[in-house]
Amino acid sequence: FGSIATKIQRNPEFATINSDDIRYFRDLLGEKNVIQDEDALLAANMDWMRKYQGSSKLLLLPRSTEEVSQVLKYCNSRCLAVVPQGGNTGLVGGSVPVFDEVIVNLGSMNKVISFDEVSGILVSEAGCILESLVNFLDNNGFIMPLDLGSKGSCQIGGNVSTNAGGLRLIRYGSLHANVLGLEAVLANGDVLNMLGTLRKDNTGYDLKHLFIGSEGSLGIVTKVSILTPPKLSSVNVAFLACTDYLSCQKLLLEVRRKLGEVLSAFEFLDEQAMDLALNHLEGVRNPLPPALHKFYVLIETTGSDERSDREKLEAFLAHSMEEGLISDGVVAQDIQQASSVWNIREGIAEALMKAGAVYKYDLSIPVEKIYDIVEELRNKLGHLTRVVGFGHLGDGNLHLNISCPQYDDAVLAQIEPFVYEWTSKHGGSISAEHGLGLMKADKIFYSKSPAAVQLMASVKNLLDPNHILNPYKVLPHSLSSP
Ligand code: FAD
Repeated sequence: FGSIATKIQRNPEFATINSDDIRYFRDLLGEKNVIQDEDALLAANMDWMRKYQGSSKLLLLPRSTEEVSQVLKYCNSRCLAVVPQGGNTGLVGGSVPVFDEVIVNLGSMNKVISFDEVSGILVSEAGCILESLVNFLDNNGFIMPLDLGSKGSCQIGGNVSTNAGGLRLIRYGSLHANVLGLEAVLANGDVLNMLGTLRKDNTGYDLKHLFIGSEGSLGIVTKVSILTPPKLSSVNVAFLACTDYLSCQKLLLEVRRKLGEVLSAFEFLDEQAMDLALNHLEGVRNPLPPALHKFYVLIETTGSDERSDREKLEAFLAHSMEEGLISDGVVAQDIQQASSVWNIREGIAEALMKAGAVYKYDLSIPVEKIYDIVEELRNKLGHLTRVVGFGHLGDGNLHLNISCPQYDDAVLAQIEPFVYEWTSKHGGSISAEHGLGLMKADKIFYSKSPAAVQLMASVKNLLDPNHILNPYKVLPHSLSSP
């Protein structure tokens, strides 16, 4: 494992689970929701990348806000540390224990509470899997304002807690814009009901935003109210090749000007990412004829007029071809073709996993500089590793991945702190959308000022004075002990 947990000491203030605790949880939740089975615990202790592994002896599956409240109240009184867990698809080691923290998984809280077809406001429990909400809304003629490659497993509570970005942010904005309200349980068991369904409410501090993106460090999100857009009838997907990064950048500028009102995704991948997808994913093929393409761009438009949307896209593509911005391209002719193009982009994370060990960085960088870091790192690391760049170019978000046969401290020493320093120097963020988790808790200063981090620590102290919630994560270790 490439875990950094070995460098952290278990906080001795935390209690360890005893038989009285187990008895209490069984009485509260029922025997089958108190999991001590080794196989189930192995899965819950291990993150999606198989990079971070904890050693928790207890997984709890509460079924209601009241149960979450009782669990936290008890854990707080006993000083038992807790990891809130959703679909466990997080990529920064935030969703698994570092040591023996109690895992509280919201998977059993998976009901849609209400849906208002006039306003498009969906209220659900936090454990709903994103894809099941997508399907529910589809039946009602609406869509979720976010879409991620992990939608089959991740939960809306996890999405909110990580402020997940994903493939539609360019169109609908971040979850800070779309989450209208939420319910959260604080470390002491208090239930904070902020489950509003209003678009506008300027009465005091908007506390829900503290829980959007705080990665389970301030409370457990139990319900979410979210604004969903209507499903539009015309979706077009184009898959394009560009000869250099500058063309991708110019294409983005042009697409905003010419297709801005219908643009719903602008994703890019380099030839190394394409290679990985072709070599490691079943049934994936490059829809473009073989040629040496350095970059690929996926453009999706979503609008309401099939004929004019299509004509506009095709005119845009013809013009871009004439201008030399794209060297080749296809427009999907049906849903199957569109989804096979999306499979390439969405499958890269899985392809990287299959290729061996991977160091993942999720950076916000001014668009014009995004690919410089990929090339600099490639030169620095030489041929022993494969440096791969892809991501949400329309949002200025690069997924920089370094793939190598196995985790190796010598390779890591070449990557870090270089990547963080480079990003900070160019005015970027070391976490565009995955969060800080365990991986980057100590790196926060590359993106936030000492005063801001100190204020975050004060908020943490106020809401979770014993620091039982997701310890060792998000904030630097020096600030995360009670
Ligand atoms: P988990 O992984 O279980 O938890 C993530 C964090 O949230 C942890 O810190 C955990 O403690 C906390 N948490 C979970 N549930 C709760 C809750 N109810 N209350 C409080 N805290 C909670 N992310 C993106 O932003 N954009 C992408 O495009 C994207 N694509 C991905 C593609 C793949 C193939 C994979 C594997 C991951 C991808 N991710 C992406 C990362 C990940 O899917 C997101 O971070 C997702 O939002 C995590 O949701 P989850 O339910 O799996 O949460």
